[in-house]
Amino acid sequence: MAKLKYERPLIKKMNAGMMNKFGTVNECTPVTHIDGVSVKSLIEQYGSPVFVLSEQKMRQNYQMATRAFSTRYPAVQFAWSYKTHYNNAVCQVYHQEGSWAEVVSGFEYKKALGNGVPGNHIIFNGPDKHADEIELAINNDSLIHIDHFEELYLLIDTCAQLNKKARVAIRVNMDTGIYPMWDRFGFNYENGQAWQALQKIVQSNNLQLVGLHAHIGTYMLSTAAYGIAASKLCDLASNCKSQLNTTIKYIDLGGGFPSANTLKGAIGLVPTPSVDEFAEVITSTILNFGFKTEDLPMLILESGRVLIDDAGYLLGSVLANKKLSDGRKATILDFGVNIMFTSFWYDHMISPAQELSQFNEDTVLYGPLCMNIDIVRESVNLPLMNRGDHVVVHKVGAYNMTQWMQFIAMRPNIVLIDTQNNTHLIRQAETLDYLQQLEIMPAHLQKK
Ligand SMILES: *Cc1c(COP(=O)(O)O)cnc(C)c1O
Repeated sequence: MAKLKYERPLIKKMNAGMMNKFGTVNECTPVTHIDGVSVKSLIEQYGSPVFVLSEQKMRQNYQMATRAFSTRYPAVQFAWSYKTHYNNAVCQVYHQEGSWAEVVSGFEYKKALGNGVPGNHIIFNGPDKHADEIELAINNDSLIHIDHFEELYLLIDTCAQLNKKARVAIRVNMDTGIYPMWDRFGFNYENGQAWQALQKIVQSNNLQLVGLHAHIGTYMLSTAAYGIAASKLCDLASNCKSQLNTTIKYIDLGGGFPSANTLKGAIGLVPTPSVDEFAEVITSTILNFGFKTEDLPMLILESGRVLIDDAGYLLGSVLANKKLSDGRKATILDFGVNIMFTSFWYDHMISPAQELSQFNEDTVLYGPLCMNIDIVRESVNLPLMNRGDHVVVHKVGAYNMTQWMQFIAMRPNIVLIDTQNNTHLIRQAETLDYLQQLEIMPAHLQKK
């Protein structure tokens, strides 16, 4: 009989899950179903890994957010932030709910048109609008949010050539007490550039100034910052009225409300304000500013993250376990940071998808990429899982499915669970053919 290999003993504390006010419900509690559909059957049908979206959650989030504002303010409009998630099926859910489109590039603009959004319900943001895209937006009567003076002059020029008037707003950046300040987009309020831009717009014959826009940051935890932003935009609007004889039709406060994700290193430290709390500060600031009733601007919101993050799940499987040189346990999963862009700043909650042992151990979760930075979670308390066991990553609906890349591994299927709990494939997993479609082989390098 071969002698057994000596293995160094390792004493480790086992945690049976920390108590919270609900008892011991935590990351270790298995999540076996999403909207009534079993995780196992989803993986059997659509492969592993696979992104899953809950249409019901998306609609609920939208309805709760719009309700938070429209119960407090007479004229509210949401515009879906395409870059947060521009799969067409996802966009249509929000458009069906009544959302306009907010786009930050030419291809997003064309996607919105393709989804049937009327041109005058598309808000065109972003610092890089090409001349032909600006022309398209003018012809479609879209709301063009100007980012810099060069764009302003290009717009005036294009309008003159087309003999058309464009409806425009400016993006304003400002000190809202949050640092570092996002002052690279739009015109600064404090140094007077915003006011200068407004004067130029009103003086030009081809532009119609209709709105003021600010998007002060993302994952903002301060409601007060929105109060400051709203009051600075109101101040500009009232100066437009008194000094430029122009009524501002809408104030757009952008996006930036946080989702219920956990920022790295912030566990339990920073409470996340609800949409209601943001709505209260924003609407009361505008309502108390002193506009005449007939001059009260429409309020536009461009929320992305908060409307979809918790509607998105990533299902995956365990490939292997190892013990690291320092004795820690490591588990290798079949999905990596190439499709989980937000793992760089969130500690995503990860649950096992089946009943496992009740004993947990501190574990590092690695992705399958052959690259050292492919770490899904640096440290998470999970029961021992074996090859083939499944996991559910929570709150990955925002940004991951637009910022993902096919580095080493390709992008997987996206499945939508509709409100009747039926599943629909809304984006196919990529293939090698798809990947190579755009490559061109020079003749001298072609295989003989
Ligand atoms: C990204 C973006 C949004 C959406 O931001 P969230 O933080 O996801 O709500 C809205 N408006 C503009 C201009 C953006 O760039």
